[in-house]
Amino acid sequence: MADLTLQTPVQFLRGVGPHRADLLARLGITTIQDLLYFLPRDVLDLTHVVGVDDLVEGNLATVRGRVVDRDARMVKAGMAMTAVLLDCDGQFLRGVWFNQPWMLQKFHDDEYVLYSGKPKRRAGRWEISNPRVQWLNADDQEAHGGLLPVYSLTEGLAMHEMRRIARNAVEDCGGMVADEFPDEFRARLQVPRTGDALRGVHLPANREQYDAGRRRLIVQDLLELQLGLALRRRTWQTRGAAARLPLSAKVDSRIRRLLPFQLTPGQDQAIHEIVADLDAPIAMHRLLQADVGAGKTAVAVYAMLVAVAAGFQTVLMAPTEVLAGQHWGTIDRLLSQSRVNRVLLTGQLTAAERRDALVRIASGDVQLVIGTQAVIQRDVTFSKLGLVVIDEQHKFGVMQLAHFASGALTPHTLVMTATPIPRSLCLTQFGDLDLTVMSGMPPGRQKVTTTRVPEGAARQKVWDFVRGKVSTGRQAYIICPRVGSDDKIAVDPDGLGAEQVFRRLSDTELKGLKVGLAHGQLDSELKAAAMDDFRSGSTQVLVATTVVEVGVDVPNATLMVILGAESFGLSQLHQLRGRVSRGSFQGYCFLFAQTDEPAANERLQELEKLAGGFEIAEADFRLRGPGDILGTKQHGELPLAVADLSRDEAALVEARQVAFDLVGSGTFDQPDFAPLKVRVLERFGKLFDLAGSG
Ligand code: ADP
Ligand code: MG
Repeated sequence: MADLTLQTPVQFLRGVGPHRADLLARLGITTIQDLLYFLPRDVLDLTHVVGVDDLVEGNLATVRGRVVDRDARMVKAGMAMTAVLLDCDGQFLRGVWFNQPWMLQKFHDDEYVLYSGKPKRRAGRWEISNPRVQWLNADDQEAHGGLLPVYSLTEGLAMHEMRRIARNAVEDCGGMVADEFPDEFRARLQVPRTGDALRGVHLPANREQYDAGRRRLIVQDLLELQLGLALRRRTWQTRGAAARLPLSAKVDSRIRRLLPFQLTPGQDQAIHEIVADLDAPIAMHRLLQADVGAGKTAVAVYAMLVAVAAGFQTVLMAPTEVLAGQHWGTIDRLLSQSRVNRVLLTGQLTAAERRDALVRIASGDVQLVIGTQAVIQRDVTFSKLGLVVIDEQHKFGVMQLAHFASGALTPHTLVMTATPIPRSLCLTQFGDLDLTVMSGMPPGRQKVTTTRVPEGAARQKVWDFVRGKVSTGRQAYIICPRVGSDDKIAVDPDGLGAEQVFRRLSDTELKGLKVGLAHGQLDSELKAAAMDDFRSGSTQVLVATTVVEVGVDVPNATLMVILGAESFGLSQLHQLRGRVSRGSFQGYCFLFAQTDEPAANERLQELEKLAGGFEIAEADFRLRGPGDILGTKQHGELPLAVADLSRDEAALVEARQVAFDLVGSGTFDQPDFAPLKVRVLERFGKLFDLAGSG
């Protein structure tokens, strides 16, 4: 046990042993280093604790005492009172709670606790109603400087044990932790040494030490990530030369003439940034962010035509066949008078058609290709690929970006997100890309009126409203949370499966209307036919799952009813309702929730209130975390040790600036940064494919 290192299993630390090691493992702690970097979630400040003699009626105060009496009784009909009495150095203070009988079980005799709240005198005795309670442990009294770290725990591990273990780790091993920051750099950032930082968070002598320690550890965590991203960006920029795709005034006006509308100032600005990138010998890696319906497709089409005009091939990848088909429809119409050779690659092509298309792409005869990512990445070889556009990408971070083999040249890449992404995620998940945030909407766009509709008569009114609008020529989507005829769920318990909703509504509320059905389990031909019928107006109502979530563009559809609305994320609901604000008619979105749960209702209320996708994304991120915005957790999360993206956004922005400056100026390649670089490569080298950038 003598020779501990940071990598020694935590079991061998003083005060741990095999049993506690198992408990710590549940918190993700297996080595002594893990323990050192397991930061308290809060710190308890005992320096403001006062005695009962110092209490002033109505003034917020914190008092420490020992539990000496616990009592619950009915004070009148329907009102139960729980009282827990503390002995505070010989004086008494009572905490009382009304109609919270469970509070009684939370206390044990002789335990030390803190009450915080506004005290009152009652019948000559001090009392606080609804105090905030902190449970202390016997040895917490000797807290350094009166500050106690508060850790997240697991069943079977007590706070005082965790505090003692963390203290042992700092005392025995805190000094072994290297400090990768050069002295001058550390001074510039005004952060303490690593060893001092660890001591500051686990054994704080005062609030300043705790804050400074936390800041050091969080900034370093984020800085390493940002350095990884900055190196990745540099690798891209130096790896392969890109073709320059210059734009002439003549080509510009030719492209604009093809478009059926005048571009918005936001679109013009985005195009301006993209065109500048395309005309450089370094491959563009740009992310285009805009709210739903802002008109990203037109920007993409413009860029693709620049590539074609410059004599290169270009490809547009969509996340679904429905969307690929829609883009094909739009672009094919725009190009009907032009000589641009183009193909749509989908799973529906016959083997012979597919073979023919691949040959023409490989020979360079085809200039513009549209398809799904799956189809294109499988086996397509280009002869002279200049620009790749990836539409509605949000499920995956940039780590999954396609690499195209196309001779010696790296193609330019434009990624378009499906949904606005909170700034902090943008700076991490897509942190090696240049960012264009396109603002503004095409003219005449109206805010979608969004209403939660309770069960009962109000829902009948919604159906009447839908029928009324449909009879004046509009169209409606009915969105269901699932398909329903899934093998695993033979019956559809709450009747929200698309198949069942389709049958039910066709016979009742929507009887007499032309109703279509689209969902992900239909075979792709049927699905495409359902979309075409809806687009052409031959069906008036489309019952669908989230296959219509992203990108689907039918301007005449202005009504949407979302069933089981509580089962969707906010950003997803915003994306869905974006389907009914495509044209210049007022759009309506009705949210039918199947729950009385306050949290779910609160979430849906945000959607009624907020109109902008960026605000909604921030709210979603706060409420549900990154996984729900970016798709599955596995793809949505980067390894961070102590930082939290929603909490530490300010530190993230700072770290990014510092990291990109260090790499950009070449300072990061100086020998005194070697230890930090080694760490960055250890952590992110593989994930970011940084081989050779050390
Ligand atoms: P998104 O940014 O969500 O992908 P789209 O590119 O699908 O949005 O555009 C939404 C709708 O707005 C489409 O019907 C498109 O034709 C229309 N549109 C795009 N740009 C303009 C514009 N400048 N003026 C008028 N309509 C536009
Ligand atoms: Mg789109």
